[in-house]
Amino acid sequence: MDFAGERETMVTNQIAARGDFDRAVLDAMRAVPREKFVPDILASRAYDDRPLPIGEDQTISQPFVVAYMIEAAKIGKDSRVLEVGAGSGYAAAVIGQIAAQVFGMERHRTLAEAARNRMAELGYGNVHILDGDGSKGLPEEAPFDVIIVSAGGEDIPEALCDQLADGGRLVIPVGPHHLAQDLLKLTKRGDEFERESLGGVRFVPLVEG
Ligand code: SAH
Repeated sequence: MDFAGERETMVTNQIAARGDFDRAVLDAMRAVPREKFVPDILASRAYDDRPLPIGEDQTISQPFVVAYMIEAAKIGKDSRVLEVGAGSGYAAAVIGQIAAQVFGMERHRTLAEAARNRMAELGYGNVHILDGDGSKGLPEEAPFDVIIVSAGGEDIPEALCDQLADGGRLVIPVGPHHLAQDLLKLTKRGDEFERESLGGVRFVPLVEG
């Protein structure tokens, strides 16, 4: 299979064609081999315009959604980023192409271990995958310039707001049900948060505890 060709087509047709994206975001999506983040049996479907199963009843997000969240978060080359819900590690790997350091938290040990192995194999030394409940954040590495949450719940965990740097951005799906979530962007301004709605999304549940 011509994965490089498929990747280029994905960036052109699924991402660049659907909005205004920073060059760095498009280049990051061009760089990461998505076929290595899905089960072998699904490698030929890796560049489909949809989420795919990755085991433990979880999914790797649709490529467009990954690019959209990263674009919204305004990640720079000096950014320290936390991703809650690292799953396959794909989004964390894409973020790692842009940011200085990425910490990806995943509550399923089997997924976290597979994601860690992928980072080692691909030589992504600035992407750190950790086991555990990311709804509590990662206080020992805070503050973060950006926190991206790749799973959705009814409310916004307070720990994540606390662990944002001043001017930092939190991108998180919030809603009463996984079929009715709104992607929110919160920007920290001193003690206040500027809140922006980025549209309807569907993410697997954020499991707290
Ligand atoms: N960004 C991932 C998408 C994975 S789906 C990727 O690119 O593959 C979301 C993931 O969030 C699932 O793997 C799920 O196990 C995880 N998750 C849900 N609640 C969590 C929590 N509180 N802490 C850490 N991970 C969580």
